[in-house]
Amino acid sequence: MSSAQSILRAVFGYEQFRGPQQAIVSHVINGGDALVLMPTGGGKSLCYQVPAIARQQLGHGVTIVVSPLIALMHDQVGALHEAGISAAFLNSTLSYDETQEVELRLQSGDITLLYVAPERLNTPRFLGLLDDLLAQGKLSLFAIDEAHCVSQWGHDFRPEYRALTVLHQRFASVPRIALTATADALTRADIIERLQLEAAQHFISSFDRPNIRYKIAEKKDVTNQLLRFIEREHEGEAGVVYCQSRKRVEELAQTLAQSGINALPYHAGLPQEMRQNHQDRFLREEGVVMCATIAFGMGINKPDVRFVAHVDMPKNIEGYYQETGRAGRDGLPADAWMAYGLSDVVNQRRMIDESPAEEQFKQVMRGKLDALLGLAEATDCRRIRLLAYFGERYGQEPSLDGKPLQAVGRTHCGNCDNCLEPPALWDGTDAARKLLSTIFRVHEASGLTYGAGHIMDVLRGKETDKVAQFSHEKVSTFGIGKDYSEPQLRAVMRQLLATGALGLHKVVSENSGHVFDTLCLAAGSRAVLKGEVQVQLREAVAASRSKKPSKKSAANAAAINLGPDAQVRFINLKAWRAEVAKSHNLPAYVIFHDATLASIAELNPQSLQELQGVSGMGAKKLDAYGAEVLRVVALG
Ligand code: ADP
Ligand code: ZN
Repeated sequence: MSSAQSILRAVFGYEQFRGPQQAIVSHVINGGDALVLMPTGGGKSLCYQVPAIARQQLGHGVTIVVSPLIALMHDQVGALHEAGISAAFLNSTLSYDETQEVELRLQSGDITLLYVAPERLNTPRFLGLLDDLLAQGKLSLFAIDEAHCVSQWGHDFRPEYRALTVLHQRFASVPRIALTATADALTRADIIERLQLEAAQHFISSFDRPNIRYKIAEKKDVTNQLLRFIEREHEGEAGVVYCQSRKRVEELAQTLAQSGINALPYHAGLPQEMRQNHQDRFLREEGVVMCATIAFGMGINKPDVRFVAHVDMPKNIEGYYQETGRAGRDGLPADAWMAYGLSDVVNQRRMIDESPAEEQFKQVMRGKLDALLGLAEATDCRRIRLLAYFGERYGQEPSLDGKPLQAVGRTHCGNCDNCLEPPALWDGTDAARKLLSTIFRVHEASGLTYGAGHIMDVLRGKETDKVAQFSHEKVSTFGIGKDYSEPQLRAVMRQLLATGALGLHKVVSENSGHVFDTLCLAAGSRAVLKGEVQVQLREAVAASRSKKPSKKSAANAAAINLGPDAQVRFINLKAWRAEVAKSHNLPAYVIFHDATLASIAELNPQSLQELQGVSGMGAKKLDAYGAEVLRVVALG
């Protein structure tokens, strides 16, 4: 058995490496540089933790883990302690004395993994410490976690990450491993350039998350849609609800709480203490629903988040994928649910238009938004589209050298809304042409552009005051769309905006001074008007169509297949775990995952030897908790 394999078993209690972990780990143990692109939940941590332990055993000294996640370092280090590894962190939450103690331990070679924030790494004091370690040959490895933070194209750009160039400049001989779950081509290229990883080996995993079910619903009454979704499918389970604005976060958390859901708000405008408290409760309590802005979530490694919901559309697919990826790290079924409507398209477009960024940057942002709109409007498999965005063909595992290993591309994943319930389609081509003609005609008649409501009124032949004011009943297209319902026309508009046939034009109201968005023809409209492209739309479905019966009480995803006796053992084990977690001030999953407790409950072990084989039961944990676990098992 290789040393990596024995560390995996003895320390972490896992039988086998997953996917490319083995290749990454041996490459890094041997001193190679690596860039690791792996989806959330893929198992990135082990890719540097196992090499850190192996290289420490070989006498190479400490591994420095650069991470932007100060609020999570305590738990990350706690998890390593539980596994019997000497780890520590340095960040602004430590007192002067505590900092000094860690520095002393670092100098004496006592630490295997040290977590630091990038701004700390870049202080002269810390760089001095690293110089000393390097001189003694005791600086083993740099692991740069969340490496996409170095790129302005990623959605978590941290200027402090730019300064990480110091790693290859000042410590050129120390190997580096950079890891991220975000990896569109642009971000990837940026990471490689910024961290000088051109010569590093690139390990690119499949980005598929097979246990996540993607669902994108048409937005109608989103608060109620969300409530129904949680009550029907995720009662009592942990989840995250992403909203665009802080105000919305607070409103929604309150509404959910009033409906009996254990919901909490989180956004960057809340006091630091409250944020930390809510994050801790999310990690430590069961079944908390966090209503949050994108300020929440990076590095949250809670394994049993059963759903991620978006009540507003994110900015791009990277953001959507990163956020939805926080569901189901434990590999058990989880949902990614989003409600999306015309207002999302309009808002996101406006935010780009109004941002102070340069035009070139805005163009990139518009392109990224369009890709997400395309996903939302899609009537075919969502997963295939998502993966295609990241350069992957579904069913074709990317190999290490970039050539596909398997030659079959598939057309269905069987685990997204469109695959599970293929939407009924209607041909919106005629409606789209009528809509575009109307926009053209009213503009021709008056030289002005109008908002969506007025265009629909003209198209449907409604005699409103505004129609009379502009004499639009005289326009040749007046009333030619009266066979279409308003929701149908809205869907057509959404898709025309998403595909670039329609654009938005800002107008200042003469009366009120308000700025509002009006519709105008864009480059893509020609092809639609000439009948060269078809407009396929999903049939609007009644919101109550879901056939899924509501779940009974909160069944635990990990324990769903256990028999009655094993269920009792599982419940007892969970109660025991909660006490241990509390006394160690750590989240429960750091002690044992649900899946580990479920295996124990099923196995009903009578001896330490039997317990040893359970996945997630490393040597240190067996030693610390084995006897207690057997006692709790015997209770049932
Ligand atoms: P990432 O950082 O890529 O999102 P993590 O490192 O948090 O993922 O790993 C996700 C989960 O998978 C963790 O709970 C981890 O313990 C588990 N895991 C990782 N590698 C293995 C493995 N080889 N065998 C079993 N479980 C693993
Ligand atoms: Zn699918």
